Amino acid sequence: MSDAGVQDTAAGRMDPGDPKAFSEFLQVVLENVTTAIFVVDRDNRVRSFNDSFRVLFPKPADRVLGQRCGNAIGCINAVSEDVLCGESSRCHLCGLRTDTFRAFTERVPTFKSRLVREFVTDGGTVLKYLQYTTRPIRFTDDEMVLVLLDDITELEERKLELEALNEQKNQLLGVAAHDLRNPISAVQMYTAFLLQEEKEPIPDKHRKVFERILKVSQFMSGMVDDILDISRIEAGKLELNRHPGDYAAFVRENADMARMLAGRKGIAIEVRLPDKLGEVAFDPDRLEQVLNNLVGNAVKFSPPGTVVAVEVSRSGGWVTTRVIDQGPGIPAEEQGVLFQPFARTSVRPSAGEKSSGLGLAITRKLVEGHGGTVGVDSAVGRGSTFWFTLPA
Ligand code: ADP
Repeated sequence: MSDAGVQDTAAGRMDPGDPKAFSEFLQVVLENVTTAIFVVDRDNRVRSFNDSFRVLFPKPADRVLGQRCGNAIGCINAVSEDVLCGESSRCHLCGLRTDTFRAFTERVPTFKSRLVREFVTDGGTVLKYLQYTTRPIRFTDDEMVLVLLDDITELEERKLELEALNEQKNQLLGVAAHDLRNPISAVQMYTAFLLQEEKEPIPDKHRKVFERILKVSQFMSGMVDDILDISRIEAGKLELNRHPGDYAAFVRENADMARMLAGRKGIAIEVRLPDKLGEVAFDPDRLEQVLNNLVGNAVKFSPPGTVVAVEVSRSGGWVTTRVIDQGPGIPAEEQGVLFQPFARTSVRPSAGEKSSGLGLAITRKLVEGHGGTVGVDSAVGRGSTFWFTLPA
């Protein structure tokens, strides 16, 4: 690894007992590593570098070897002020410099840190995203620092592009859902009105159609609300209004409401609460959404005559809520997509209920917003347990 890098070796025929051949072999390995590697001395001057370094910072070897790190790599801080690396007004902010220095003074390595900087090359100035690792090394009593640099510019630029596209998608979804909300509510309202009209009742043959319109528009309005929630959450605009409250009482009340719906399907709701739970900080509106979704799913996917249990327990600083059903269970290979938007499995609702695949994605985001996690334990034929934790 030097300006005179040995490219052509008889590595295939190398005798491991021959130190010269072995060193040549190592040289070739270093020259062929795609990571840019260089070594600096105590004065932060480049003592050696490999071929990939040349590719990343193309310039003649004499403008690299013996030069201070920033000058060798064309760091904008040193070049724009025309000073030595370490003497510019911004050098004290340089992470690479600090980490190299620490590697000398404290013998502490750095692993995969990020450096975003403009570099001046013979062709102009370019912005690069680099990932660097530093390691203190010693060679014949000389202390040095080995620096490994990976150019992650393309990856970072793609990431920024994707983030911008995702942001646009969220805005579009948000605007579309928002604009759909009013017309859908109007359809819902007018249909409900016509169905209740007593003076001029709708003929029986039309009643079924109107009832169907009402049901579909109710589903659409739920879906529009879910889409609005998802786009709001993804845009980081979800605000949680958390305050300490009686979580056990909250769960009991929620189960009472669910019991009415479940009863129509012949499903019983059981609540299991610990004797003493204490207060938990939560946003009641948002956690109601979480419980409604999990209990609603348990009811939706279970056959009549079964039991859905809502169980709360506390351990090690966490309160765990489990919604346990005796439904069909979810095949293991399909469980990986749960909690992702629009993910549905082969398990279909047991009484033809509608399904959008948004509920669990929203649930996950809301629970994570509370600092908790979500999960599922399920096996075909043995029911499902959807659970989430909250910090106690
Ligand atoms: P939706 O219920 O509207 O489809 P969700 O995101 O809440 O949306 O659920 C996604 C999918 O996960 C469901 O379509 C279903 O396939 C599966 N699922 C959720 N809960 C259960 C459950 N308790 N039992 C079996 N499958 C479930």
